[in-house]
Amino acid sequence: MELLLIRYELIFFFLGGLIVGSFLNTVIYRLPLIMGYEEKDISFIKFNLAYPASHCPNCESKLPFYLNIPLLSFIWLKGRCSFCKDKISTQYPLIELVTGILFSWIALNSLDLLQSAILCIFFSALLVLSVIDSKFKLVPSPISLSLIVIALLYNFLLNPDLVKDALLGALCGYLFFFLIEKLFKYLKGIEGLGRGDAKVFASMGALMGWQYLPYILLAASLLGLISVLIFFAVEKKPFRELKGYSIPFVPALSFGLLINLF
Ligand SMILES: [Zn+2]
Repeated sequence: MELLLIRYELIFFFLGGLIVGSFLNTVIYRLPLIMGYEEKDISFIKFNLAYPASHCPNCESKLPFYLNIPLLSFIWLKGRCSFCKDKISTQYPLIELVTGILFSWIALNSLDLLQSAILCIFFSALLVLSVIDSKFKLVPSPISLSLIVIALLYNFLLNPDLVKDALLGALCGYLFFFLIEKLFKYLKGIEGLGRGDAKVFASMGALMGWQYLPYILLAASLLGLISVLIFFAVEKKPFRELKGYSIPFVPALSFGLLINLF
């Protein structure tokens, strides 16, 4: 009986994840435009994160509500816009699916609904940052700073005993990348390296406590290294180009956090 209840809950979180994932797609598409990371003529259309309704990036046609169903619409339309038949990026269904799986996994491992809810919000924001960092090598501060607030709130509400560790975690996480940035500036004259990573790492310290930071960093570095090697091998790039190749580190840190989360 208990097993059955757990399964119902997981279906709820999976479907909820698909819907939230569909909203995250909008944020991933629009936030870089709003923040000016991407040069694109959008002057003809006034929009923010919620307005206007979803439309095809190619022909601007608005999607009717019955084609706004996450995942299913993409399969139904065979990955093409129903008006101009232009290919829709597989990124859309992929983000929806990843969010659905992420939410159910969080629900499966959490102790109660409040913990699941806050972690789902935290990882949704982290997913948005990971994709934006991969595409633009930039980390929007409004989201990374919100992550720190959410993480501190999480411990304040759920683990009041750990608030001190969480505050120290935020500080250590930030200082680590801050010092690396200063070091690189001093040694090589490179500016701004890892500035966005510092806030993201601070939020992870705030979520888990300072004790977890070395483990998250170790996992992230290994994952980052392995994925770069795979990327170079698949793209058949010469390995001597590895020197000076900068990787988006937020996705690696996010995986590192996931591994250490429960
Ligand atoms: Zn279209």
